[in-house]
Amino acid sequence: MALHRPSDEFPRHLEELYARFPFDRSYDDDPISSVRPLAVDRRRAEVAGVFASTLAIGNTTAIRGAIGRLAGIVDGDVARLVDPRWSGERTRRLRGFRHRWIRGDQLDHLAGVLARFYRAEPTLETAFLRGMDDGGGFAGGLDALARVLRGEGLGPGAARPPRGYGALFPSPLAPAHSPAKRLTLFVRWMVRRRYPDLGLWTGVPTGELRVPLDQHVHWIAYHLGLTARRSRSWAAVEEVSEALRRIDPLDPVRYDFVLCHTGISGDCPKERDLAVCGPCSVRPDCRLWRGARGAA
Ligand code: SF4
Repeated sequence: MALHRPSDEFPRHLEELYARFPFDRSYDDDPISSVRPLAVDRRRAEVAGVFASTLAIGNTTAIRGAIGRLAGIVDGDVARLVDPRWSGERTRRLRGFRHRWIRGDQLDHLAGVLARFYRAEPTLETAFLRGMDDGGGFAGGLDALARVLRGEGLGPGAARPPRGYGALFPSPLAPAHSPAKRLTLFVRWMVRRRYPDLGLWTGVPTGELRVPLDQHVHWIAYHLGLTARRSRSWAAVEEVSEALRRIDPLDPVRYDFVLCHTGISGDCPKERDLAVCGPCSVRPDCRLWRGARGAA
């Protein structure tokens, strides 16, 4: 198939999609709506964000349900997860928790890892920035974050991770070049100040953010010609992010919520359907319509 590129008018079409998007409708369906009530201060926001993004597998209803069950386990206060005085109760209450392939013993271990981290450092942002500043850029920041959450370098006395734990936190720098969607989403929540994100990290420029490339964002990005890669990878993340950065250099990831929920909501049928595609602002750029009569 020939290389697909969006039209020259794509920036205007994307802005139109963004401007018309019903954020409030999709907010309730997004995991951030379950995170925000728990994020009453910086520490709680990080803890809620780490756990919620770790659980961000599957459809949004199931994800919000899993975050809600976790919030119930801690009686609504996520700071308990990283409170060493509560570790025994935490282990007991998380026993039997399950969301897709993520188990309660893995979440319990994550809580222990975070509790140890917070004894030495006040925020995960410092770890992220160290990785970024070490020459690895944004991917280096994610790699550093993944290492922290995997519990690397915790020193003697650290508990052994349960089965499958390390795989929960892939790094884009590892040989598989994972798109690291969940960690990238966590960083978006922490960094962006504009709705609907939390904006608590001030050291990471929003222009440096990368798009959390889930299946919905990847589908539409591919069909708009923002990447020619058919599978999700870190290289695809970089291509899509760069394409969006050319449109908004200071906040390229602001389009993520819109692109993602255009797919989740059913606004985009992912096939040619004039009844649904008719009002779509990016129809002239869409691979399914480009060149078709009536695309503009
Ligand atoms: S034109 Fe239709 S298929 Fe293409 S992005 Fe828009 S809604 Fe989706």
